[in-house]
Amino acid sequence: MTEEAKSELYRLLPQVGELLESERFPELQARFGRELVAEGLRRELAGLRDGVRVGSLVESSLAEAVAGLGASVERRLDERLRPSLRPVINATGVILQTNLGRAPLSAAAIEAMVAVASGYCNVEMDLEAGERGRRDVHVEGLILDVLRGRGAFAETVGRAAAVVNNCAAATFLALNTLAEGGEVIVSRGELVEIGGGFRVPDILRKSGAVLREVGTTNRTRASDYAEAIGPATRLILRVHRANFRIEGFTEQPSLCELVELGERAGVPVFDDQGTGCAVDLAEYGIPGESTWVESVAGGAALVASSGDKLLGGPQCGLLVGSEDVVERVRRNPLFRALRVDKLTYAALEATLRAYLCGQEETLPAIAMLRLSAGSVRERCERLITELAGDDYVAEVVPVRSLVGGGTTPGASVGSFAVALEAGGMSDDALATRLRGWEPAVVTRTQGGRVSLDLRTVFPAQDAVLVEALRGVAAARKAETL
Ligand SMILES: *Cc1c(COP(=O)(O)O)cnc(C)c1O
Repeated sequence: MTEEAKSELYRLLPQVGELLESERFPELQARFGRELVAEGLRRELAGLRDGVRVGSLVESSLAEAVAGLGASVERRLDERLRPSLRPVINATGVILQTNLGRAPLSAAAIEAMVAVASGYCNVEMDLEAGERGRRDVHVEGLILDVLRGRGAFAETVGRAAAVVNNCAAATFLALNTLAEGGEVIVSRGELVEIGGGFRVPDILRKSGAVLREVGTTNRTRASDYAEAIGPATRLILRVHRANFRIEGFTEQPSLCELVELGERAGVPVFDDQGTGCAVDLAEYGIPGESTWVESVAGGAALVASSGDKLLGGPQCGLLVGSEDVVERVRRNPLFRALRVDKLTYAALEATLRAYLCGQEETLPAIAMLRLSAGSVRERCERLITELAGDDYVAEVVPVRSLVGGGTTPGASVGSFAVALEAGGMSDDALATRLRGWEPAVVTRTQGGRVSLDLRTVFPAQDAVLVEALRGVAAARKAETL
């Protein structure tokens, strides 16, 4: 193309200023603001200028691109402003997965959050007295009532509860409050990494306490703890084995034994319980998991647990214990630094109310745990029927859904999954495409197939899932034509 012809083409490129006034650009500016639209146009026009320079655009293709400027700017801005945090469909069958945000909230919890988020609220105001109030009183009574209702203790008198940002914060705060400058006795079998960089020895060191390890990885006796108690001992720490299991030649004193030992020696026991489980997992065929309720009943001076694991609520850390110990925690300046916001209190209150009113099934995590394998199977079969003719080979297979969320790795319930193969795509390729869909679908791969366990898919999402699968198949087909 001659330089002259190129100059002709350059003349066809509109000015940013005039574009902003024309056709659909006022509409885009209303959505994204003038700056972003102008910047987007400048970038698009620069691309077209380059196209002319290297000769990849002729008059007709340039005219087409200019006519499509609105659409391309919109596409670019939509992509740029797409939320980083997006809802996903969890077809992994892992009910509580930290990567996927742990417990989904109940409708009541969401409603409570919306109610306090959309205006002012009495987060730190005593409305009766018209004076400043404490934020953590909003849920304290409820936490204690739920625990009493489940038999953790007979009387709430002398007991207290406080809420912080998460269980790691609760543990750190407990160690710092009760053991800074002194020794904490821990079994070598509990010097664990919970995940996400939460390592018991590191948290302990940062809390200002000195670690005193006792026993061995597989066996620690009450006498090991007893022998380690000395003038510097401030605390006995028990850590729930959240993500691993020790089998075979093992021994570990019960929490009650530790509490008895501590009482004799005048040393409090702190239990990092983790799961916040307030239901009996044995009812769902998962024996041997200790619960939050049992921990509190065990008589530890302080128990820490997560709000967004098996409790089924928002991210937070619950500290429950004797009134004097919890009061010391509250007076620690770090308590202020680790406090939770009004939205967390709102969601936690609604979550705890469900336990109090016997409506645990309104909590999605508990409802998923309770789903019968048969009902999951029916939905899997329906999904396969819907997919017929979409280039998939699908089969319903028995699987085990994992509870996750700090229960032992073996904690699982029988379930069913759709095992999928797509013509011309590996299992990994299919899984990647599903994650790239909007909404993203997260799956597991098993035996060369993509596995969709519908236990963790909300029934209302079944249709969206079918659409995603059809969309992925159609996109793949369009590419190969
Ligand atoms: C999960 C867990 C933690 C960390 O809880 P977060 O709420 O994620 O901070 C700490 N201790 C135990 C035993 C846990 O199971």
